[in-house]
Amino acid sequence: MTDTRPVALVWLRNALRVDDNPVLQAALDGGFRPVPVYVHAPGDAGRWPMGAAQRAWLHRSLAALDARLRGLGSGLVLRSGRAQAVIERLVAESGAVAVYGDRRVEPAWRALDQRLDAALARSGVRLEMRQAALLFEPDAESVRTGQGTPYRVFTPFWKTLRRQWPQDRPLPAPTSLPPLPALATGTLADLDLAPRTAWDTGFWEHWEPGGAGAHELLDAFVEGAAGAYDAQRDLPDRIGTSRMSPHLHLGEISPRQILARLADARWNARQKAGIEAYERELAWREFSHHLLWHFPHMQEEDFNPRFARFAWAEPAPQVLEAWRHGRTGIPIVDAGMRELWACGWMHNRVRLIVGSVLTKNLRQHWLAGARWFWDTLVDADLANNSQNWQWIGGTGADAAPYFRIFNPVTQSERFDPHGRYIRQWMPELAALPGKAIHAPWTQPALLARYAPAYPKTPVVDLAESREAALDAFRALR
Ligand SMILES: Cc1cc2nc3c(=O)[nH]c(=O)nc-3n(C[C@H](O)[C@H](O)[C@H](O)COP(=O)(O)OP(=O)(O)OC[C@H]3O[C@@H](n4cnc5c(N)ncnc54)[C@H](O)[C@@H]3O)c2cc1C
Repeated sequence: MTDTRPVALVWLRNALRVDDNPVLQAALDGGFRPVPVYVHAPGDAGRWPMGAAQRAWLHRSLAALDARLRGLGSGLVLRSGRAQAVIERLVAESGAVAVYGDRRVEPAWRALDQRLDAALARSGVRLEMRQAALLFEPDAESVRTGQGTPYRVFTPFWKTLRRQWPQDRPLPAPTSLPPLPALATGTLADLDLAPRTAWDTGFWEHWEPGGAGAHELLDAFVEGAAGAYDAQRDLPDRIGTSRMSPHLHLGEISPRQILARLADARWNARQKAGIEAYERELAWREFSHHLLWHFPHMQEEDFNPRFARFAWAEPAPQVLEAWRHGRTGIPIVDAGMRELWACGWMHNRVRLIVGSVLTKNLRQHWLAGARWFWDTLVDADLANNSQNWQWIGGTGADAAPYFRIFNPVTQSERFDPHGRYIRQWMPELAALPGKAIHAPWTQPALLARYAPAYPKTPVVDLAESREAALDAFRALR
């Protein structure tokens, strides 16, 4: 039987899933024949085109989504180029009368949506955007301060969200979809996402991009670490967190699906504290997106304008190289940067430590760190990355005050007390005994004997640089 329904493009950006997908569902509910489309459009991403690690992930994620859609009878149309031109061409080729897409908070994508909306309207085609990534619309009336302004402080934001915390069930996946119309779909290889040399091979020992991988990991978290999340989330030597971030970023899983999975499990009173702490982190994700929506300049400019006068150190390429490649001579920092390089992800506690050392001890601008993370993280997300870099750099909304400077040695002793995390990522330090692992420069004889190739001293004197950072901060007053 021929499908007589009018065609709608279902343009998926960061909603790479079939289940709980409000974009796909809206097209179906509207009585349309949905044609799922992915457009690789680096030229539309402003100064933040997708980084290398995420492109490698995306390559696999799109393959997984295409397979899932084919299993339902449809498939994924793949194109690359400027999104507006590509969508307009697809509309013409398919005879689509509507385009459904997922709403984004990134300034460049928002600008594109406005242009596309106007262009499509001129040819009588509707652009319908749906929220598929967040629990709350960043501009919702219900998520405002008493004065009607956007939140800038997390705790009252979280209280407001908590009062309206979603309890609704995720949307089910359709049981079947109509076949794609005859269109030139292009191939995944045409998008040129996969690395030309296989530097990413190690990533896939840790990750399985796509919805199936996301749900498997979530199950493991719910059955394992979730109930003790509050106690273990800061300990990088174990899997104490959910590792949902890359899956959430590309929308292979939705936050609502995560909440529903948590709600379906049974928790005792002790474990409930773990779940509450976990949901609070999901709310930090909402907060970052809320901030970027309302304050788009924070992607590159200090949220706190006072820092425009801050005396950052001159860019120091050699020092930056040492930081990027894990050769600072500070083991916890080097271990974090090696973890990032090896699996495209770093534990949150260690992100904080490496971020503090970069912005305070090395006094490099937070954007230098944000850019490196952008290229190397599989979970790189403009809202989360800018918000967190500004938080640790002291320039952000509701940020850690600049004068609160982490001592990386104390942090290492506290959160990696047995040095297991350091030894995992820095095998050249594995033989260092006891506490020497945290500050090997204080034990030159042990360092010479057990790790002769490691730097004899850190790239920066921690005490002196701390004082210099505090002086620079005082000068702001
Ligand atoms: C300097 C710096 C840069 C960061 N850059 C990014 C980034 O580009 N992309 C990114 O997703 N996260 C970023 N984070 C936040 C955080 O480190 C990661 O979200 C977290 O480590 C991901 O691991 P997980 O999924 O196991 O987290 P879990 O602890 O299991 O948390 C569950 C989810 O909550 C969200 N979440 C957790 N912590 C935060 C947070 N501090 N801010 C916002 N959302 C949070 C994430 O979506 C995460 O997947 C950054 C943190 C720092 C300090």
